Amino acid sequence: MLDVTADLTKPLVLVVEDEPALATMLRYNLEKQGFRVDEAADGQEALTRISESTPDIVLLDWMLPVLSGIEVCRQIRRRPATRELPVIMVTARAEDSDAVRGLNTGADDYITKPFKLDNLLARMRALLRRSGGVTEKGTLNFHDVSMDLATHRVQRNGRSVHLGPTEFRLLEFFMNHPRRVFSREELLNSVWGADIHVEPRTVDVHIRRLRKAINGDDELDLVRTVRAAGYALDTDPI
Ligand code: CA
Repeated sequence: MLDVTADLTKPLVLVVEDEPALATMLRYNLEKQGFRVDEAADGQEALTRISESTPDIVLLDWMLPVLSGIEVCRQIRRRPATRELPVIMVTARAEDSDAVRGLNTGADDYITKPFKLDNLLARMRALLRRSGGVTEKGTLNFHDVSMDLATHRVQRNGRSVHLGPTEFRLLEFFMNHPRRVFSREELLNSVWGADIHVEPRTVDVHIRRLRKAINGDDELDLVRTVRAAGYALDTDPI
């Protein structure tokens, strides 16, 4: 069931999966990653769910009761309202060669079971970015930090992190470019704006505040200082 009280700014994913254990695992993990999750256990139910509440993306199992994933995908593409709806086909290894056929019928991508959750999330985010609108005001994730751009809520490891407006923009910039090192000047240009005149050491002040806010007592310092070069958001401090 769809939780009607849920935060509507979060992208809605429809999980079409007839293995209850896999569906439950996906729901649990996707919700943890900032998605709303709707479920369907067969192909017909999937089409019904889609017409009742159009998701932002569909994870579509290939082998399904009633209507196959491929038929569901065809029908999604046939309807004008869902022609552009991102679809990731989920196949078992034995069906892998069929997956190409799935792409021909209009799936945007496919993933083979068993898959790594990170891999699935990366594909989902890439498709959502491409389809636009959703991750524009969606959630950014890095390591155990998540940033909800619509509600301006930041969490690390499940706890709320309170940031000032500059630290928020700084973190947003880093999370859009993880692991890349930026000089103070680059950060000033990108986060403060090129025509605003502030001293480069102002960056250090805000970096210090950002560190203090996001790094808990026993937590990894996610801001890497690179001597003579600048700063990066990184899990590897060296
Ligand atoms: Ca199946």
